Amino acid sequence: MKVAIFNGAGKPVTIEERPEETPGSGELLLSIGRCGICGSDISMTSGSAFDYATGRPIGHEFAGEVIELGRDVSGIKVGDRLACIPSGPCGKCAMCLAGRTLFCSEGTSLFGGFGERKAIPATAGFLLPDSVSMAEGALVEPMACGRRALRMAGFEKGDRILILGAGNMALSMIYWGRQLDAGRIVVVSRSDKRDAIVRAIGADATIRLDEEDPGAIEAALGGPPDIVAECIGKTGMLQLAVDKAPIGGTVLSLGMCTVPDPVIPALNSFKEISLHFPIGYSFEDFTETIRTFDAGTFKPEDMVSDTIALDQLPEMLDAMRTPHTHLKVMVDPHLECTHG
Ligand SMILES: [Zn+2]
Ligand SMILES: [Zn+2]
Repeated sequence: MKVAIFNGAGKPVTIEERPEETPGSGELLLSIGRCGICGSDISMTSGSAFDYATGRPIGHEFAGEVIELGRDVSGIKVGDRLACIPSGPCGKCAMCLAGRTLFCSEGTSLFGGFGERKAIPATAGFLLPDSVSMAEGALVEPMACGRRALRMAGFEKGDRILILGAGNMALSMIYWGRQLDAGRIVVVSRSDKRDAIVRAIGADATIRLDEEDPGAIEAALGGPPDIVAECIGKTGMLQLAVDKAPIGGTVLSLGMCTVPDPVIPALNSFKEISLHFPIGYSFEDFTETIRTFDAGTFKPEDMVSDTIALDQLPEMLDAMRTPHTHLKVMVDPHLECTHG
């Protein structure tokens, strides 16, 4: 079966033939239907200290159809469609019970979503209702992060949310803010290229980062933000987020900046800022994301700008290393390559 392999920064990702996986006890085999390209598939293959290990399969935002069951799997049948938690959490250890599935002591990496098939523990698979498409199934993983972040921020109904950036994490924050009855939601971003989708998901206003005049944010929000979410991940943005927060405000660092991004602690103390660094999601965040996709009026599939074949992935990853206009790009490993 084919799977995408990371060969080190500066070298193209290659699509390679690897042995078929067979599901062991408690596992099942997924025929992968869609796998989304994450910002980390770009940033963690670019030569930073946080790069994925060389030789490793990549792709962690995936959903698929069950085509084979291992021993001792109950409650799931062949033909079911599942979204997958790619850290393979056990669901039983202290970290899993605390809602920190990414830190599961028994966890096993299930990367390899950019591939044709993948054996996963049944505990990592979450049933998709008929109304949720395969592409939306692959959006569960990135979208669950926003719900976890709002929980960490102590979000309450009516809270005004300011979001710096319009990338995929920002979209997740807008989505959950709107679904959970936030007050006004305002997005500050560099360009207008994502304004349409940002508004479709639920933002009330967008403001340009460089043209922002004093007071514009509060005017658009109808008051000071209760929560400021930094979703850009570039040096200087964390302190900017703190600067935009009022006394007693809460700041979320979600940009996953991989280089130093200084804040001045005294400035933060003068406003008693609460600063949080959420990552990942709990099992409940995952199931609630699926339930909300099922119940909601906004179709998450509208966030998908491109669906490409596996063979087109290396070229797409390189294209996404420079400024681009793609939203969420999905790989469909069953799609025949239409060029080259
Ligand atoms: Zn991701
Ligand atoms: Zn665990």
